[in-house]
Amino acid sequence: MIEETFEDLYEHAPCGYVSTLPNGAFIRVNQTMLGWTGYQREELLAGMRLLDLLSVPGKIYHETHYAPLLQMQGFVNEIAFDLVCRDGKRLPVLLNTVQKRDASGTPLINRTTIFNASHRRHYEREIQLARKKAEEALRLRDHFLSLASHELKTPLTAILGNIQLFQRRITKEASLGERERRTVQVILNQAHRLNAMVKSLLDASRIETGHLSIMPERLNLYALVSRIVDEMQSALETRDIDVRCETQSIMIIGDEMRLEQVFQNLIQNALKYSAADAPVRIILTQQNEHIEVAVVDQGIGIPQTSIPQLFDRFYRATNVQDGVIGGMGIGLYVVNEIVELHGGKVWAESVEGEGSTFTVRLPLVTA
Ligand code: ADP
Repeated sequence: MIEETFEDLYEHAPCGYVSTLPNGAFIRVNQTMLGWTGYQREELLAGMRLLDLLSVPGKIYHETHYAPLLQMQGFVNEIAFDLVCRDGKRLPVLLNTVQKRDASGTPLINRTTIFNASHRRHYEREIQLARKKAEEALRLRDHFLSLASHELKTPLTAILGNIQLFQRRITKEASLGERERRTVQVILNQAHRLNAMVKSLLDASRIETGHLSIMPERLNLYALVSRIVDEMQSALETRDIDVRCETQSIMIIGDEMRLEQVFQNLIQNALKYSAADAPVRIILTQQNEHIEVAVVDQGIGIPQTSIPQLFDRFYRATNVQDGVIGGMGIGLYVVNEIVELHGGKVWAESVEGEGSTFTVRLPLVTA
């Protein structure tokens, strides 16, 4: 039968054991520790201190963290050090120390276990490196998006301007047939779409750099929402969009252009994520000091697990990730930022398969 003795267990444990006096001088060291550091027992016990085995940064850390912590709480856990071995090589370790004190609280002995952390340190370095690479990739992506959207904006503005001009000119031109007119209209619509995408990319990079701002003024929110709905309704005759509101004067302080962008986005989403014959309702409800605008659809809905991330940049819910309904996952990110700049809040409620409600709450002008 193999017998396990305390002595053998102590000497050859898979961790180093050392006992030191309160001044750090070694009074007992196990064989594992001697094997790792290359020191003879007599050398360490001849007055050497734990501090003597530490690298220069380790010595500083010992004085500023390890010793004060030990003094204060009587123990320390998982303090990372590099031990300097007899041949000068470094051994990354983790130290746990417990201080034995007498009845009056005076420290007698420090008992320390030393864990070999070479693999762990290597692994931590790899994680750090991977993290740095990931951060760099994200920085590059943002830089690229910002650059690309800036560069795309100029030629796109020129295309839009020219095609609009061209369209105006050909309406008077008798020689052009219906087919040509339709082609021009398609080009114009797609250029508008592209322009909207580039604009939201630009807004997203403005948010990232803290440069998205609003120019607030007094405005009637009911009038603004009604105008947006009227414009959308006349462009999309087959869709059923309507506004419900008890009062026709809802005064707020806001940036008209930016709020238009918010409601256009929410209504466009409501239309995009529901069937062509499903209605979209915009309901304005006045509360004491707030106005709430709810955009309600009967569309595909949003899975509950996706709701907390909806307003994150580039996030698309799990039920649209197949790419059937196109999108970049930027609109709501920009909407959220604009609403917050107005001191408001936006949130989503939804039942998957039944529909979604996006509500924007904005402060009312009280005076
Ligand atoms: P995009 O629509 O371009 O993907 P958004 O930022 O506007 O980006 O929306 C983020 C995601 O939120 C969408 O991809 C979609 O999954 C979900 N979503 C937004 N509005 C609705 C809605 N009315 N119904 C269902 N899902 C929606």
